[in-house]
Amino acid sequence: MAELLVLKDLQGWYGGGHALRGVSLKLKEGSMTAVVGRNGAGKTTLLKATMGLLGSSAGSVTLGTQEIQEFSPRVRARLGLSYVPERRGVFPSLTVLENLTVGYRPQPNGWDLEGVFARFPRLRERRDHGGSTLSGGEQQMLAIARALMTNGKILLLDEPTEGLAPKIVSDLGLLFKELLADGFALLIAEQNISFVKSLAQDIFVLGEGKVQWSGPSSIFNQREESIYSWLGI
Ligand code: ATP
Repeated sequence: MAELLVLKDLQGWYGGGHALRGVSLKLKEGSMTAVVGRNGAGKTTLLKATMGLLGSSAGSVTLGTQEIQEFSPRVRARLGLSYVPERRGVFPSLTVLENLTVGYRPQPNGWDLEGVFARFPRLRERRDHGGSTLSGGEQQMLAIARALMTNGKILLLDEPTEGLAPKIVSDLGLLFKELLADGFALLIAEQNISFVKSLAQDIFVLGEGKVQWSGPSSIFNQREESIYSWLGI
């Protein structure tokens, strides 16, 4: 499968704080790469740097064959990157319908309102309700549906399962499987390791802004305990 996204020696700073200290990874079409690690490990910073949302970053971000490190988040979005932030980033004062259409970029055979409402019937039912009135699960679905409406092929997902009921988490797992089968590439930051283990092809364990361990999830599964004890988790 083709590599859709390549990060090389990606670094990021908040003021003088060096939060991301050189992360390299590759994301292939139809695959999920999971970034795990404790609070403050640098997972969110990695996703933000990839999307161009950090004030200060260095290294290289390549989308397909194009180097995009100097590009704004807006241009990166137009080229196919879509970011679903932690705590979802739904616009609370906009309705479900407005949330969905605000970033809509039509594509032949791409996602549109009908497709989204067919896949997420609950959003159709709630189309005229304000974003702030939705449950946590509905907000997560709306945030992902809104990302799909931009018709990029790469989703950057920051802790999508956080605070969700087990049934919603398992719905989310099914949705991600469908997206992977459809050729999407998913870069996911998660604390919920059991959720990503069965979905991700590769796992990166981040600590202090650096990759402390990386490998295929099959190897991670075999060595999980020793990886944790080695990392002191
Ligand atoms: P969490 O699971 O808690 O979100 P994380 O792995 O996503 O953790 P980051 O949010 O990327 O971690 O944080 C990495 C480091 O950067 C931490 O030391 C954190 O304190 C610091 N940091 C994060 N956001 C800011 C900010 N806006 N200003 C200053 N420092 C920040």
